[in-house]
Amino acid sequence: MPENDSIHYDVVIIGAGAAGLMCAATAAGRGKNTIVLDHANKMAKKVLMSGGGKCNFTNMYVEPENFLSQNPHFCKSALSRYTQWDFISLVDKYGIEYYEKELGQLFCKQSSKEIRDLLLNECQKVNARIQLKCDVLSVKPVQDGFTIDTSLGQYKCNSLIIATGGLSIPTMGASGFGYQIAEQFGHKIVETGAGLTPLTFKGKLLQQFIELAGNSARCRVSCGGQSFTNAVLFTHKGLSGPAILQISNYWKKGDYLEVNWMPDLDIDEWLSKGISQRPEALLRTLLATEFSQTIANFICRLIGFDKKLKQIDHKEKLHIINLLENWRIFPDDVEGYRVAEVTLGGVDTSEISSKTFESQRQSGLYFIGEVLDVTGHLGGFNFQWAWASGYAAGQYV
Ligand SMILES: Cc1cc2nc3c(=O)[nH]c(=O)nc-3n(C[C@H](O)[C@H](O)[C@H](O)COP(=O)(O)OP(=O)(O)OC[C@H]3O[C@@H](n4cnc5c(N)ncnc54)[C@H](O)[C@@H]3O)c2cc1C
Repeated sequence: MPENDSIHYDVVIIGAGAAGLMCAATAAGRGKNTIVLDHANKMAKKVLMSGGGKCNFTNMYVEPENFLSQNPHFCKSALSRYTQWDFISLVDKYGIEYYEKELGQLFCKQSSKEIRDLLLNECQKVNARIQLKCDVLSVKPVQDGFTIDTSLGQYKCNSLIIATGGLSIPTMGASGFGYQIAEQFGHKIVETGAGLTPLTFKGKLLQQFIELAGNSARCRVSCGGQSFTNAVLFTHKGLSGPAILQISNYWKKGDYLEVNWMPDLDIDEWLSKGISQRPEALLRTLLATEFSQTIANFICRLIGFDKKLKQIDHKEKLHIINLLENWRIFPDDVEGYRVAEVTLGGVDTSEISSKTFESQRQSGLYFIGEVLDVTGHLGGFNFQWAWASGYAAGQYV
């Protein structure tokens, strides 16, 4: 028999992910009688699978510029009140070992389970309850709060927090539930899309790239006024790797990507040196000093010729430099929610308080984490947003 919880709670949180659990621990820590409801069979599934099982739990260089939103100022208040250093000191308190992988990204040395256990323990020590396998059927506003009908019976509360995340990876429990609730109370939804996702090619272009599958190169990739320098991985479907996941947040169908194949070099100087020092070498041999031979051959095909370096004339040299610096490529699509790490767009922040996360349309209703129109770059920023927004709302409910 399912348990019928008819108790009245101060706070009901829907979604036992990063934001919901942080909010539960904070609210219950302030003496609020708190329960978290989730339809999944496990809590914090995305924490567990994140960072390749090592959870990139924050970043040492968090700035508002690392977040996309129609209102770029919305994230500032919460991020400044619960910073990366606050979460790092919590991680330290639990003796969890971590390391910086690159660019300030902090990962667990052992396992992302340690972050899940930290969240669970933070909830348990202040008696925040977590109820899994609970399908929420409806939410109704009543005087001084809400009633929530679920597969396990009815819950009543004064404050209702929606922490149901975005649409990415439906097999992990993702649903559009948070958007439905937002719309029920008259909130607008900023158009959603798959973020931090690989880009795909089709047809002739895909055929052209297929031989590169498995190869990678450090490139600077630009689109929509943004640039990221990191690894680009060629796959059987198109492009992936950190630089591509990052730029996918800014890419729209029909846009091209501009790729600098050698972002750390002065390409003119590098090529001139090659020509004077190795005149008998072929262009593809020189390129293979910087790339795998497969990529070097591919770049030669893009350039349109391969010849001894001493045979390259001035016009050809400019053509090579231009292609290595500003190669344009038109991806066909994003790979989509099945593999996307985040959801772009979400609940419009214009009617949500950036201080308390309470709805300005419905007193006692709060939205936190990824369900909101706030999306972080790759590198621990999305969890930092979950911690910061969860903490901020937990302080006010
Ligand atoms: C593969 C992958 C790797 C990632 N790696 C990183 C990383 O290393 N670093 C980083 O910063 N970010 C990473 N992210 C992004 C990060 O996981 C999310 O941004 C973050 O989890 C969002 O937290 P949240 O609490 O808002 O939502 P979620 O963590 O998605 O939690 C939402 C919860 O709500 C529940 N829920 C949904 N619908 C309902 C419903 N109808 N009823 C009841 N419960 C519901 C879900 O089951 C889930 O438990 C990764 C994402 C993915 C998919």
